[in-house]
Amino acid sequence: MTVRVALTFDAEHPDRPAAAGNAEALLAVLARRGVRATFFVQGRWAEAYPATARSIADGGHLVGHHSHYHARLPLLTDAGIAEDIRDGGAALLDATGVDPAPWFRCPFGAGAGDPRVLAAIEAAGYRHVGWDVAADDWDPDHSSAFVSDGVLRGVAAHGEGAVVLLHTWPSATLDAIEPILDGLAVAGVELCRIDELPAVPADVP
Ligand SMILES: [Zn+2]
Repeated sequence: MTVRVALTFDAEHPDRPAAAGNAEALLAVLARRGVRATFFVQGRWAEAYPATARSIADGGHLVGHHSHYHARLPLLTDAGIAEDIRDGGAALLDATGVDPAPWFRCPFGAGAGDPRVLAAIEAAGYRHVGWDVAADDWDPDHSSAFVSDGVLRGVAAHGEGAVVLLHTWPSATLDAIEPILDGLAVAGVELCRIDELPAVPADVP
């Protein structure tokens, strides 16, 4: 039986030094390899890079909501969370032409276990999407080999339905994506979007 796995990329203003054009290069690799993935896009990032945000949707990828300000949501009031989600949703619809509902991922995963935050996300018409496998590709100390090995090992350990967390801006992720795709193909993995999986994790590891 084929194992299905969903690669997810958080697209946001980087909080570490990052090279320009990384997200665009990543999208080009996915297009060349015929891979469709899921992108959780920050509203303010989509406002800054509307053409790239649009190309995510146009490339057949699923667009999810990754907040507007990329704040740690537990730090915001109920009204603040509602406003962040409303503003981000409008920015994403404007930039991509796609309504990201119901898919939402908390910045840093912060709030994934907080009933108040989850209630606010649900009240806004969304459900939280966590992940099963991460290789901390945001950490500049991690090489592309570390990232690809971590993803391949994590997927092998989890098996069917694994949701993998990556980011669009680390150069290590761009360098790791082809080895990841090659390794998953060898393992017989079929890549899909999260809306093609029967179940999606709400929690973060
Ligand atoms: Zn993020």
